[in-house]
Amino acid sequence: MLAIHGGQPVRKSLLSYGQQWIGEEDIEAVVETLRSPMLTQGPMIEEFEKKISEYVGVKYAVAFCNGTAALHAAYYAAGITSGDEVITTPITFVATANSALYLGAKPVFADIDNQTYNLDPKKVEKLITPRTKAIVPVDFTGQPVEYDSFRRLADQYNLVFISDGAHSFGAKYKGQPVGKCADMTMFSFHPVKPITTGEGGVIVTNNPDYYEKLQLFRSHGIKKSGFETQEGPWYYEMVDLGMNYRMTDIQASLGIAQIRKIDKFVKRRQEIASIYNEGFKDEEIIGLPYQLTGQQSGWHLYIIRLNLQKLRVSRKEVFEALRAENIGVNVHYIPVHRHPYYQALNYHIGLCPIAEKWYEEVITIPLFPKMTDEDVTTVITAVKKVVQFYKVD
Ligand SMILES: *Cc1c(COP(=O)(O)O)cnc(C)c1O
Repeated sequence: MLAIHGGQPVRKSLLSYGQQWIGEEDIEAVVETLRSPMLTQGPMIEEFEKKISEYVGVKYAVAFCNGTAALHAAYYAAGITSGDEVITTPITFVATANSALYLGAKPVFADIDNQTYNLDPKKVEKLITPRTKAIVPVDFTGQPVEYDSFRRLADQYNLVFISDGAHSFGAKYKGQPVGKCADMTMFSFHPVKPITTGEGGVIVTNNPDYYEKLQLFRSHGIKKSGFETQEGPWYYEMVDLGMNYRMTDIQASLGIAQIRKIDKFVKRRQEIASIYNEGFKDEEIIGLPYQLTGQQSGWHLYIIRLNLQKLRVSRKEVFEALRAENIGVNVHYIPVHRHPYYQALNYHIGLCPIAEKWYEEVITIPLFPKMTDEDVTTVITAVKKVVQFYKVD
């Protein structure tokens, strides 16, 4: 009997959908910084940025207090301003689109590809206008987008290509770490993301002009060098309106300890995804995540897609039943344009039909590197138990 009907749950305690993995070495690194003279914007930030840029294989990395701040800074550095349009996906966390709004620009939502759930370059091209300034795809669930296609589009139409890689640090596109193909790529270090700094984010780029602007925006638009003046050694200039978006050295020291483990984390995520693929392969009600060849997903999320025609209930009942079995399922994401704030800005329902239909059918099941094989087995057991119960005869 299903737990939701009073039966025994598959698990005794709730398994969350995602979670950090902190070891003693991470704790020691943080404590060491707490004993040091600099708590913010000191040597740890510089070292962390160096480690990130080396890992990705780009010239520059600029760390921020969170991924949203990093996106805001990237949009600023790209010169996005009032009246501009930024084409992105509705299947993302709201921050991707909000960062355009912060600068007075308009997010334009293009539909997703029905197989990869990533932004479809062909749909993007149809929406390009003279006002379009940037395209911002998301490596959704950790699967890299078609970088070559977006690169071609950006070059052809003279657009800035910003990648939201919040899910894809450690993922590979054509054998190379994600972060090289776009003009700027954002990674987030929120606790559920590939590595964590508590809160944190970074922009990687090869462009020295963007690099300078990102640093400027991070710290109030203040310049400390690069000008000639007799005023005195204390002198600095505020040359543009920036923010305080700095990461602390405490966070950066955690990041330095975490980045050593990124390949191990991603490998474990891939292992878990393979166990799921194998466990669900004969279950016709469950659509499995489709993977393009030539890519290596970072497997930030594992999303199952329900074949609702073969079920007596909707996604909601399946979701609630899984929660009752103590499986910490989730849904990623509510299409951004469905939120009340966006509705009030006149984004209509029906704008992205593939994304909207897809949203009704999906459930995110737990996936994080610290999960044990037994945890993984309980998820498979619970999912099968629930969908078989609700299956139409
Ligand atoms: C997490 C996330 C962000 C925002 O990152 P924060 O570090 O939480 O601010 C942006 N986009 C996507 C796709 C994300 O998953």
